[in-house]
Amino acid sequence: MENIVRQIYDQIQKAHQIAMLVHTHPDGDCLGSALALAHILEKTGKKVRVISPDAIPGYLQWMPDIDKVLIFEQTPRQAAEWLEKSDMIILIDHNTPKRTGEQLAKIVEKYIGKKTFALIDHHLQPDPRIDLQISDPDKASTAELIFDFLQQTGLWDRYADREAATLIYTGIMTDTGSFRFGKTSAGTHHTAAELIAKGAPNEYIHVQVYDTYSYDKMQLLAHALRHMKIIPECGASYMVLDRKTLEKFHYRPGDTEGIVNYGISLKGIAFTTLITQLPDNDSIKLSFRSKGDFDVNEFARKYFNGGGHKNAAGGRSAASLDDTVKKLEKAIRENCHKIIAHA
Ligand code: 5GP
Ligand code: MN
Repeated sequence: MENIVRQIYDQIQKAHQIAMLVHTHPDGDCLGSALALAHILEKTGKKVRVISPDAIPGYLQWMPDIDKVLIFEQTPRQAAEWLEKSDMIILIDHNTPKRTGEQLAKIVEKYIGKKTFALIDHHLQPDPRIDLQISDPDKASTAELIFDFLQQTGLWDRYADREAATLIYTGIMTDTGSFRFGKTSAGTHHTAAELIAKGAPNEYIHVQVYDTYSYDKMQLLAHALRHMKIIPECGASYMVLDRKTLEKFHYRPGDTEGIVNYGISLKGIAFTTLITQLPDNDSIKLSFRSKGDFDVNEFARKYFNGGGHKNAAGGRSAASLDDTVKKLEKAIRENCHKIIAHA
């Protein structure tokens, strides 16, 4: 067993109650990872809850154990009480408590230095305030790190079941774009094979995640594609979904998932952005994707107070929608030659 795996497992064994945190706008990887670990730790007799800052998107509501997730936005007191009573807090698929949103982060950060903290994640630049870190940016998904952790601790051999396999498979499938993104490795496929052998219904999972669009969600995608802006001389594209459009198509959390990837599917385009003016939020969300070595983690940090991975990142803007679009266009121009080199 790796040393860090042993240290985290020791702390888990000592803990009576554990809180596992996922990031805002939770996705298949953070939820699949956290729920799988929670599912197996519950089998060992631990009291564990997964806490999400905000709502579960529709395309993930079928996941095993999803009803057990405490949603801070909906039941803040319950979530805060669980944290207060926990002796260990584990951050899953995010690199700092700040990624849990302003209000939840404020509560979580109070406990740094007072409770045991661990992080299992594959984003760059993990928060140095967290002592116990399994952080591997070369992994395509956090779910693979969870699988490795379970395997190294022997928990997988003892407690693996169809639910845990389904959860981990969902994390890997969603974060690798169905096994096609760059960091998908032989190891990723070996893990997927083991998960299917343990009962993960791979076709069913794929259908639940990708083939359950509402008519409104499909129309929202169509709108985004029809209005896509291209800056061919820079190898860049972007799409904007303003509040009115989201309301027109009865936006629900998860409806914008995957749209950004179409912006990078064009020949000659190496960088794309989806700007979303969420109805229930003052700030504007930006999603970035790139091909090759154009680093969107750096781009998101520099211009939009965000971060992520080299080829997939996100950020925020407190400016108006118009000003955000102008700022993006200016940033694209500044990086024009760097982007076009990878187009
Ligand atoms: P998405 O565009 O799918 O929301 O996010 C892409 C990647 O960037 C994910 O790995 C996500 O964790 C990260 N990310 C998204 N939004 C933010 C943000 O506001 N701040 C940081 N640091 N990372 C983000
Ligand atoms: Mn992830």
